[in-house]
Amino acid sequence: MKTAIIGGGASGLICAIIAARLGKDVVVFEADERCGKKILATGNGRCNISNQKLEPSQYNHEKFVQTLLGKFGLDDTIEFFDSIGLQLVVDTKPDRLYPRSLQAHSVVKLLLFELEKLSVEIKYDTTIKNIKQKKGVFTLSTSRLVSYKFDKVVLATGSLAHSLGKDIGYKIARNLSHNIIEPTPSLVGLISQNIYCPVLAGVKICTAVSLVVDDIAIQTIYGDLLFARYGLSGSAVLELSRYLPRDKSKTIYISIDLFGDMTTDELSRLLEDRSKIFVDKPRGQLLTGLVNDKFMELIGEKDSYSVMANKLKNITFEILDTREFKYAEVCRGGVDIGDIDHDTLQSKKTKELYFCGEILDIDGNCGGYNLQFAWSSGAVVAQSL
Ligand SMILES: Cc1cc2nc3c(=O)[nH]c(=O)nc-3n(C[C@H](O)[C@H](O)[C@H](O)COP(=O)(O)OP(=O)(O)OC[C@H]3O[C@@H](n4cnc5c(N)ncnc54)[C@H](O)[C@@H]3O)c2cc1C
Repeated sequence: MKTAIIGGGASGLICAIIAARLGKDVVVFEADERCGKKILATGNGRCNISNQKLEPSQYNHEKFVQTLLGKFGLDDTIEFFDSIGLQLVVDTKPDRLYPRSLQAHSVVKLLLFELEKLSVEIKYDTTIKNIKQKKGVFTLSTSRLVSYKFDKVVLATGSLAHSLGKDIGYKIARNLSHNIIEPTPSLVGLISQNIYCPVLAGVKICTAVSLVVDDIAIQTIYGDLLFARYGLSGSAVLELSRYLPRDKSKTIYISIDLFGDMTTDELSRLLEDRSKIFVDKPRGQLLTGLVNDKFMELIGEKDSYSVMANKLKNITFEILDTREFKYAEVCRGGVDIGDIDHDTLQSKKTKELYFCGEILDIDGNCGGYNLQFAWSSGAVVAQSL
């Protein structure tokens, strides 16, 4: 029985290694001239492989991921990487696991060493354009005008996220009768035309950031917010981008509180007290030393202390959209998990077709969650083949 693994990214590579170790005959097809390009871009080139506190609740389909992590979880991942010579460490951010070298490139290198050791064939520069199944045999047509026949196929083609993303995987899945939940950019900056965005561009603060949909705060995250000319970014905003409603008719705001540790009255009193220090100075100068000077722009000369306090505790930015896919770390949406068996990741629509990685409608939070899903799903598919 021969298996084609389409995609030499995180999920495809781990799938190929574990399958080959189990004695299965696998071939990897990779559209690019090398494998694991997206892995190289992860964690700012350091590859945040996983997270010590893996919480299924950090994914969009908690139960599905819980089942998967039960089959190949954190300990299995650490053991797997150890077996290919990669030690993992926690670096500056709590619980986030990285290769000890802090180089994403070493992750790709060791995965490829292992594939070489196992004599797994990788067909580079070969895009799979279409797949058809007839009488239990898959025919794969390629960009090289050659076609191949396989008994089993694993679609590990990733998502549209980042400039490295491709959408052929979705087309192939759709042609094989799978429902595709509309892919949208996630873990991505948000676009706002608020006039203060260009004014504050470049300012980074750590604060409570809320996503407000139709006047209801649906998520609040304490973390970094970075102002940009196009709108808002920073880790808190990237995380909140996962919860943006798909319904475009809703009004969406990001609201920030620059003084989350004080009530409006306390802040108002503080500002009034400070007016004794800043005699004869413009109103905005009362903020000197409290917040970045650029926030003085928010303050009007005639603002009372309570108006100032209200403004500083509730700065809102209307959100028009997310940035495009090329700026996104991951993709929300993909192959509907209702169309696949949750234990084996085999398609319910096409026998002997399997899915792993980001092509599936699974997205997780920042902090190693998305690569962990790629490792776990790739491993589970390998065990199911
Ligand atoms: C900038 C950035 C930073 C990130 N940082 C992190 C992080 O630190 N931690 C974390 O957990 N996650 C991170 N992610 C997310 C993580 O990289 C992805 O979730 C993960 O790589 C998905 O693995 P995959 O195997 O599904 O897809 P990919 O790694 O994208 O691999 C898919 C492969 O399939 C190939 N392919 C596609 N179509 C075809 C075709 N038709 N024929 C042949 N080959 C094809 C592609 O060329 C690609 O090599 C980051 C993502 C980005 C963009």
